[in-house]
Amino acid sequence: MIPEKTKAFLFDMDGVIFDSMPFHAKAWSDAFKEFGIAFSEYQVYLQEGSTGFKTVNDVFMQQKGRCATEQEVDAIYGLKCRIFEKIGCNKPMAYMDKLLSYLKGKGYIIGIVTGSGQKSLIEKLDDAYPGIFSKERMVTAYDVTKGKPDPEPYLKGLVKVGVNADEAVVIENAPLGIQAAKAAGIYTIGINTGILDIQCLKESGADEVFGSVKEWYEKITK
Ligand code: CA
Repeated sequence: MIPEKTKAFLFDMDGVIFDSMPFHAKAWSDAFKEFGIAFSEYQVYLQEGSTGFKTVNDVFMQQKGRCATEQEVDAIYGLKCRIFEKIGCNKPMAYMDKLLSYLKGKGYIIGIVTGSGQKSLIEKLDDAYPGIFSKERMVTAYDVTKGKPDPEPYLKGLVKVGVNADEAVVIENAPLGIQAAKAAGIYTIGINTGILDIQCLKESGADEVFGSVKEWYEKITK
């Protein structure tokens, strides 16, 4: 259900708005492999939502017991971005167009909170979902110093859409994203659109969990 006080929805992007996670997972895994580091696609899904810098650094800490240097971060994250540019596509998530039109029609404010640093994101969003999003109501990698699971991205999201934490609902697909939203004090819907066990989303603290966008859409429109 949508909590009664809700005025705005804050959507995560990759794996929620766009069905882009399979491409990000492959790009990360292939980029690490080039540097002789094993990082499975499942692990990519587990750390999803983190910044590029933190992802590389965390893997170095886990596997090498030290921080990554700035050059190592730039090299691996740079390669990941180049691979994604080549193989990736921002395919709209199934049922997302219906869901967004429904929420917009009900008068809710719609914002985006993403760790993505992709260029010309608003154009890509507008191409897929004309008239739904605006640049003023978006938090991207350029707006934050700490990535998810820190609450900062979602706290900034609340400011951008101009509502209090108890007047917003977050839609997330990733454990770290759910943790970030909950740490910001926001009601959070977890939608499992990828390869993770749905239990991971429940354990991260989501208030409700669904197996697809369609499942949640049908529940709120019924
Ligand atoms: Ca995501």
